[in-house]
Amino acid sequence: MLKALLCKLNIQHDWHLEHAEDGSLYKRCQRCGKDDDRGGGGTGAGGAWAGPAGMG
Ligand SMILES: [Zn+2]
Repeated sequence: MLKALLCKLNIQHDWHLEHAEDGSLYKRCQRCGKDDDRGGGGTGAGGAWAGPAGMG
């Protein structure tokens, strides 16, 4: 399946909205089960991308 390959290579996922236990919403890929770990933050935070600088 080509689409499975998209998941495997982390190119594109088939996000579906799910309810978390605390009532919040999150996205999960219904093909591979991956949670969307990119959501949550606002958009356009200055320098939001994780650079090579040591985190933590
Ligand atoms: Zn996926």
